[in-house]
Amino acid sequence: MADFKFGPGSLNELKNVHQDLVAVVNRSLAYSVQDFAVHDGIRSLDQQKSLFAKGAAKTLDSRHITGHAVDLVPYINGKLRWEWPPIFLIAEAMRMAAKELDVKLRWGGAWDIDFTDSEAAPEDLMIDYGARIKKQGKHPFLDGPHFELKKAFYPA
Ligand SMILES: [Zn+2]
Repeated sequence: MADFKFGPGSLNELKNVHQDLVAVVNRSLAYSVQDFAVHDGIRSLDQQKSLFAKGAAKTLDSRHITGHAVDLVPYINGKLRWEWPPIFLIAEAMRMAAKELDVKLRWGGAWDIDFTDSEAAPEDLMIDYGARIKKQGKHPFLDGPHFELKKAFYPA
């Protein structure tokens, strides 16, 4: 187990996030072989509107606004890196922690599955998700750093 610790920015982002999600995030940092930062926790509606306008968010009805979502971004050599291989490592750690704490998560790399109960490698889950969406003639929106509490278990 690595010995990563969140910096003040990450801790600040976790403020007002649902305690079950905070528990999973904290546990996952202990399990993760990849250091990461909490890039986004709570978001205001204005922040969400601006992300939506830029195409960086797919909805105005974001789970970030209600404290049910976090974005976890790989932290490598002092920089945040939006890169898939390290993102998959974080997803692996998040799933391990969510299974242990029995918290049902939805992951932005494969929105339509029960992420906590899944078994396949996160990379394969994402590839399968992309293929399913393309089959419907749509373009997949992939957001690997995004994790949220499943609405069925945690309504807003
Ligand atoms: Zn997000």
